[in-house]
Amino acid sequence: MAIGAVANSTLLLSSKPNHLSFSLTKTSPFLSLLSPRLRRFLSVSSLSADHHNLRDFGDGDGVGISSQGSKTLLKGMTYPDLEKWVYSHGYRPGQAMMLWKRMYGNNIWAQHVDELEGLNKDFKKMLNENAEFEALTLKEIRTASDGTRKILFTLDDGLVIETVVIPCDRGRTTVCVSSQVGCAMNCQFCYTGRMGLRRHLTAAEIAEQAVSARRLLTNEVGSITNVVFMGMGEPLHNIDNVIKAADIMVDEQGLQFSPRKVTVSTSGLVPQLKRFLHESNCALAVSLNATTDEVRNWIMPINRKYKLDLLLQTLREELHLKKNYKVLFEYVMLEGINDSDGDAERLIELVKGIPCKINLISFNPHSGSFFRPTKEERMIEFRNTIARAGLTVLLRLSRGDDQMAACGQLGKPGTIQAPLLRVPQQFQMEIGGSS
Ligand code: SF4
Repeated sequence: MAIGAVANSTLLLSSKPNHLSFSLTKTSPFLSLLSPRLRRFLSVSSLSADHHNLRDFGDGDGVGISSQGSKTLLKGMTYPDLEKWVYSHGYRPGQAMMLWKRMYGNNIWAQHVDELEGLNKDFKKMLNENAEFEALTLKEIRTASDGTRKILFTLDDGLVIETVVIPCDRGRTTVCVSSQVGCAMNCQFCYTGRMGLRRHLTAAEIAEQAVSARRLLTNEVGSITNVVFMGMGEPLHNIDNVIKAADIMVDEQGLQFSPRKVTVSTSGLVPQLKRFLHESNCALAVSLNATTDEVRNWIMPINRKYKLDLLLQTLREELHLKKNYKVLFEYVMLEGINDSDGDAERLIELVKGIPCKINLISFNPHSGSFFRPTKEERMIEFRNTIARAGLTVLLRLSRGDDQMAACGQLGKPGTIQAPLLRVPQQFQMEIGGSS
């Protein structure tokens, strides 16, 4: 689920000079932080090739332990998986824990056997022969004028994913991770949605985004404290791997993110949302964006399957069973579409009985999109109406939009794109009749 799901286009990206982009050079201080494999890669890579194959990879693998060639990829394993794997090679659980702490904890974030200081020599030899540590290859880091970083990673099949690191002056830095390459949900205001779904990410590819963000950027931006699953993709469409990756992130001996600071966002896949609330103690965000089925059916087609009533009643019932748990509703404001006084009143009614916070998000306009952002004064009025009803409501400013790192700007659609849906009659004037 792209944050706030605000679309943008490659045209915009290419029309801006890339003067703020950060290039990894041989003298970059980052190089000393990188694994030998990555250093080798960087020395031969132009860091510019892009490989967006228009392949549909179907429903992903959902595997826990995956092999790269003859070696086993360790990153996608939960700690119990890792312990079993280490044991199967004749080593004790204590050694599995030492390995785990070096991969995820103690500011080591090891990505190569050479970085595993303090481990038994035979154990390291076994790892060298049988284990692979990296699921992602760094392609590029771009820095926006507000300090937001967009990290591009190449996957083993050549596809590219994007991870965003958003520093905040209140001592909080958030990493926004992707869960799929592209997305099948086709939200009409989202750039990632234009790509369609290429494939799910594995648990390793998801978890390693958080590890790499810490490894690459902690020195620059300080401690990375929060994770949001709001990059490319609908996380709950890839629920097995997302729950596993979130489990890895909150492990107390590893990355140690607080479950309250790991937020998984969804466009509203109701059965998966229920499962998530039962199986994970991480936070949930629901991208709402409309107050009637008519509008939501159009801008978020998933609503045709899971209507607003069902979505909200499910949340009401499920959250009733959880203690001290609030869902975050995200609401991207589109001028003339979902920002009227009537919408504000309906929103108040819709969320009644659901412990929640509401984020009002400014839409980032882009060429090719027919939506416009709601004006700031109108957003403030809308916010005030909701706040007067006693709800917690926040306005969220766009971050990183000059490097296409903002809400819903991630990804790169190919020539074959998901279809735009018919604009309901009453909005055709509002959006200039383009449908
Ligand atoms: S199309 Fe996918 S990534 Fe974009 S907002 Fe919808 S669910 Fe999120």
